[in-house]
Amino acid sequence: MAEQNNLSSDESLRYARHLILPHVGPAGQARLRAARVLVVGAGGLGSPVAMYLAAAGVGTLGIVDFDRVDATNLQRQVIHGTGDVGRLKLDSARDRIAEINPHVHVEGFPLRLTSADAREVVRGFDVVVDGTDNFPTRYLLNDACVLEGKPNVYGSILRWEGQASVFWAQRGPCYRCLFAEPPPPHLVPNCAEGGVMGVLPGIVGSIQATEALKLVLDEGETLAGRLLLFDALRMRFREMRLRRDPACPACGENPTIHELIDYERFCGVAEAQPELAMEQGVPEITPAELKARLDRGDRVTVVDVREPWEWEIGNLGAHGARLIPLNDLPSRMDELNPEDELVMQCRSGARSARAAEFLLAQGFGKVSNLEGGILRWSDEVDPSIPKY
Ligand code: ZN
Repeated sequence: MAEQNNLSSDESLRYARHLILPHVGPAGQARLRAARVLVVGAGGLGSPVAMYLAAAGVGTLGIVDFDRVDATNLQRQVIHGTGDVGRLKLDSARDRIAEINPHVHVEGFPLRLTSADAREVVRGFDVVVDGTDNFPTRYLLNDACVLEGKPNVYGSILRWEGQASVFWAQRGPCYRCLFAEPPPPHLVPNCAEGGVMGVLPGIVGSIQATEALKLVLDEGETLAGRLLLFDALRMRFREMRLRRDPACPACGENPTIHELIDYERFCGVAEAQPELAMEQGVPEITPAELKARLDRGDRVTVVDVREPWEWEIGNLGAHGARLIPLNDLPSRMDELNPEDELVMQCRSGARSARAAEFLLAQGFGKVSNLEGGILRWSDEVDPSIPKY
């Protein structure tokens, strides 16, 4: 990044509160002006991200969006106005940004990122901000950022809850270290199905904008290695420590992802996994069946094979569930009694199917897999368990 500190008088006036601010100052402001930040999605999250980055003086904003503004967007996508309904979001965002700060150059990408172009697009920017609302694009963006060595400022929102982190393989874990498997598509509603509180993307997007600015300035402590969880209904922030998964296919010790894959297919495959497990002989139990058996007092031990940070979000501990992360299972299986009836459980049912398969192969007699994992449990038995 070129850091020539020759702000014009108009810029000096505009950025006056930055120029006196510790960790920014004239050098930081010049750094912001030289920066190139890519915002993927000009929707709920992308709105505050693009507006605050523009106001702060980020010199070049890349914006990826192929969609048009519709009336249901206006409740939260505040970069667009009522008169923009029907226009390309890219055009509407460009106009709004020009209004906020004419010094900002917008590079528009009116396309849906695909495996064919994502790396090339990402390569041209210093920092990437993920404002997407679907899993295929999220995994695509993660892998493109890992392969291109770019920091990826992550945010996601649903209903009254949001999450944010910074995934940067050079400094911490990536999205796949957290979520090795995409959730089965029918189990996680999107905002269109589940609803979203209008102000929520304003908060989470502002956090993403803050992180992007800190990354450009190289100041402060970012969310790399931490997952921030926000519950607007209870007005609570929580934080989870994240670690790189040595087995991560993107950023682990022996990465298997060297080029971008077919993400639509990757995210659809999870849906077929329970059937796959059954074909391979792992018996399944539904959340309702498990709940009925637990209520009857049957001796059933639930084994949660997720990571400790996932357990903290919500678990079946009240039903006697035990936590043994999948990677620890081979070394800790002597903690389980091969005579007991075991129900393996994870987030969506994919990891626990592998765990069940493993235990069956080790001679455990009565092992089944909880179909749809804790996500489906939350849907069908106990909605107080947060989905993530
Ligand atoms: Zn990773």
